[in-house]
Amino acid sequence: MSKRDYYEVLGVSKTASQDEIKKAYRKLSKQYHPDINKEPGADEKFKEIAEAYEVLSDDTKRSQYDQFGHEGPNQGFGGGFGGGFGGFEDIFSSFFGGGARRSDPNAPRKGDDLQYRMNISFEDAVFGKQTEIEIPSEESCETCNGSGAKPGTNPKTCETCKGSGQINQTVDTPFGRMVNRRACSTCQGTGKIIIEKCTTCHGSGTVQKRKKIKVTIPAGVDDGQQLRVSGQGEAGINGGPPGDLYIVFNVRAHKEFERDGDDIYYELKLTFPQAALGDEIEVPTIHGKVKLKIPAGTQSGAQFRLKDKGVKNVHGYGQGHQYVIVRVVTPTKLTEKQKQLLRDFAEISGDIPEEQGSSLFDKIKKTFKGE
Ligand SMILES: [Zn+2]
Ligand SMILES: [Zn+2]
Repeated sequence: MSKRDYYEVLGVSKTASQDEIKKAYRKLSKQYHPDINKEPGADEKFKEIAEAYEVLSDDTKRSQYDQFGHEGPNQGFGGGFGGGFGGFEDIFSSFFGGGARRSDPNAPRKGDDLQYRMNISFEDAVFGKQTEIEIPSEESCETCNGSGAKPGTNPKTCETCKGSGQINQTVDTPFGRMVNRRACSTCQGTGKIIIEKCTTCHGSGTVQKRKKIKVTIPAGVDDGQQLRVSGQGEAGINGGPPGDLYIVFNVRAHKEFERDGDDIYYELKLTFPQAALGDEIEVPTIHGKVKLKIPAGTQSGAQFRLKDKGVKNVHGYGQGHQYVIVRVVTPTKLTEKQKQLLRDFAEISGDIPEEQGSSLFDKIKKTFKGE
């Protein structure tokens, strides 16, 4: 069913003042009020009028409607009256039935969402894993079958509301006397009073348990990313659907690898001879060892890319690489022979380092002698 234009519904012009809108609404709502008008379709018509009035009586909503029509950007106009019916909600709830859900304590409601932080290893984040987690959950008490009453006893019918869980309140409004329904405060809307409470659940009808849930860690997931497990949140209320479970991943650091998005960084330590002469060595990657050729004359800080040796993207957008960063390590403990070889090396290179023991004074002397 396509929606009629709100101005058309109220029979006012696009430039109508708030006063005109209010007058039109009062007149029409009296005419189509379900308590007065028993014609088929009057109920629908009344809802349509109320909805049009809700939007046009609010300057912000009205200008949004003028710009965008029924389709939004604030979609709250269309489906039901959940989107802020304000002070009218209570009055209207009594004849809208399912319309104004918020004020009906017995209407089905979706359960709350839950969040669970999950610590996972670096490897499990990269490759994914099937696992199981245990989360706390509220379940129906087995001792009393969820009634909250001690087995063998029966809950008493609430005298305040005669078991309906609701209290009718008569309200005088501009368009006549209306019946306003509220949840009974004596029984919290359940219609029953528990005299002897179940000792297992202390009358709540539910017990805290732990439930196991199978979780598939998606391959390539990164630290801080979350996964939604539909329907594993808290139980719904009054037969409503359960909430969702959000699993947030905390990825532990790795001893050797560092991750940046889908790329992996690895620091490769080389000795001076390896860096100077070149070498072929095995480098660890998350996919196993890979041979890497180090060219002669490699500098500290040099970077090599191992293509596709990074993390497979969690959304399926390709694969990261591994970057190998070279660090040339200076030897710290040298034997006498090693020292001599290095001195010889330096001498041949024409670059005699100033060693410990050879003072600046000696060097100046040598210079004067022309050595
Ligand atoms: Zn009651
Ligand atoms: Zn119980």
